[in-house]
Amino acid sequence: MKIRFLGAHNTESKTTRLLSIVVDGRLALDAGGLTGGLTFDEQLGLKVVLLTHSHYDHIRDIPMLAMNFYLRESGVDIYATASVREALANYLLNGQLYPRFLETPKGQPAVRFHPVVPYQEMAIEGYGVIAVPTNHAVPTVGYQLTSAAGRSLFYSGDTGPGLAECWRHISPELLIIEVTASSRYTDFGRKSKHLTPDLLRDELIGFREINGYLPRVLTVHMNPDLEKEIEAEIAALAVELDCSIELAGEGWELEL
Ligand SMILES: [Zn+2]
Ligand SMILES: [Zn+2]
Repeated sequence: MKIRFLGAHNTESKTTRLLSIVVDGRLALDAGGLTGGLTFDEQLGLKVVLLTHSHYDHIRDIPMLAMNFYLRESGVDIYATASVREALANYLLNGQLYPRFLETPKGQPAVRFHPVVPYQEMAIEGYGVIAVPTNHAVPTVGYQLTSAAGRSLFYSGDTGPGLAECWRHISPELLIIEVTASSRYTDFGRKSKHLTPDLLRDELIGFREINGYLPRVLTVHMNPDLEKEIEAEIAALAVELDCSIELAGEGWELEL
């Protein structure tokens, strides 16, 4: 699997983009910073977008992606829970803010929506995909992706602590997990359901207890203002747990 990080932060600037990860050029995880990071040809090469939850920073580029497919008389498949479809249909693709691309053109919409059922394995574009609920302020699922060659990753979407149940359903080689703030914001993390390095420590210890190993870990969704602090704390945590944990960044590409 070739994994390309288009966006790895929780806010946008000239140098940071919202969450979006592309696998093998044809499957995208979240659509925060999706269209601005791809050429038109690369966008049209996408077959599938998996969305984790309805928050704006994860679905923002769906209208633009839909327009680009529409203009080229094509369509893209989007997988998410019903609550994400509702948010798209009610707010972004509602015929007022932007066209109703979930139904337009009639019979062949630019966005073909497929509801996901948690814990049910799906075959999508040659990958085995399982949606697993995480713990966030709105209904959220992470996705475990397994390639035909048996390589696997899990992307958490946004989540706070309390992932024991999630860990029981997955066993990835690569864990892409959010760490939004540094550990002095751990109370904020608990309340707003995001992770800090301190909270990640407990979750990784839980993962190891349940699965008997620790995967390679890449963090995403960092607040750029706190990134230096997060980086120092993550480096210490990697030593403490004797595993590989790094902050992902825009433009990162890796082969799994
Ligand atoms: Zn969120
Ligand atoms: Zn977010």
